[in-house]
Amino acid sequence: MNCKVCQSNKIRFYRKVNNYNLLKCKNCRVIFLENIDELIDSQNFYNEDYFENYLYESELNFEQIKNTAKYYLTYIQKNFGVVQSVLDVGAGFGLFVKAFRELGLKAEGVEISKYSAKTALEKFKVELFNDELIKYPSNEKFDLICFYHSFEHLPDPVSYITKASELLSNRGILWLSLPNVMSLDRFLNKDKWNGWSLPYHLFHYSPSSIRKLLLITGFNKIKIQKSFLNPLRLIRRNDGARNLEISGSINYSRLKEIVRLPATLIFTGQNMNVFALKK
Ligand SMILES: [Zn+2]
Repeated sequence: MNCKVCQSNKIRFYRKVNNYNLLKCKNCRVIFLENIDELIDSQNFYNEDYFENYLYESELNFEQIKNTAKYYLTYIQKNFGVVQSVLDVGAGFGLFVKAFRELGLKAEGVEISKYSAKTALEKFKVELFNDELIKYPSNEKFDLICFYHSFEHLPDPVSYITKASELLSNRGILWLSLPNVMSLDRFLNKDKWNGWSLPYHLFHYSPSSIRKLLLITGFNKIKIQKSFLNPLRLIRRNDGARNLEISGSINYSRLKEIVRLPATLIFTGQNMNVFALKK
C-alpha cells in the first residue's frame, strides 16, 4: 500500500480510535483511516441522517456563515489578490455559496450528497453541482476554490487538489479549512477529539503534512492560520463534531476569549485554515 498523499510505502499502524484503525505515513506524516477504498460509498454515506442536526443549525447560523465568508474573503484579498469568483467544494446546503453571492461574488458549489443538494435548492434556493468535483466542467475557471471542512472527507486528496488546480484561474487561490491533528486540543481530548469524526474524516492533516501535499500538487505561498482554542470546547466535549465545525474558527470573538482565559493565547485550537497560490 502506498500513501495517497506522497506515494511512499512506509506506512505503519498509528492507533485505534473508536474501533477504527488509523495508519500513518512515515514520510509525509499524514494520518488516515485503514481500508478507505472498501469503506467509502460517498453518495450513500452522506444521507439525511448525516445532515439531520446540521440543517437545524444552518438555518440558525446563516449570519455567522456570512461573517465567516466575509472575514476570510477580506484576508485572502489582502494577502493573495482580487477574488471575483469562487467555487465551494462540499457545499452542503449551499449557504457558503449564498453568502458569497450576497457579498457580490460569482459563486458556485459542488456537493456529492443528493439529499444535501436537493435541500439546498428547495430550502435555500441555491442550485449546486450534484456530483463529484472530478466531473465539474473544466472550461469554467474560478479565482478561489474552497474546501470548508470537506477536504478531510475526501478519499483521494491528490486527485481533488489536481482537479481544483485545473479549475483555478491563473494565480488562483486555494482555501482549505480543516481539523489540525497536531493541535493541543487533540492531545487534550485524546480519543474523544471532535476532529477524529470517524469514519467520516478519512485523512487527518497537520500543518506539515498539508503543506507537503500542496507543494506536491504545484502550489506555493502557503499560509496556515491556526485558530485559537475555544475554552468552552473543553467543557462541551460531547458535542457533535458538526456543531463545532459550523461554529468553527471565527464566529466567537477572539478578544472575548483572551479576556476570559489568558491561557487561550498559548493554545492552538482544533482547526486550521490553509491558503495557497497556484503556481
Ligand atoms: Zn505520505
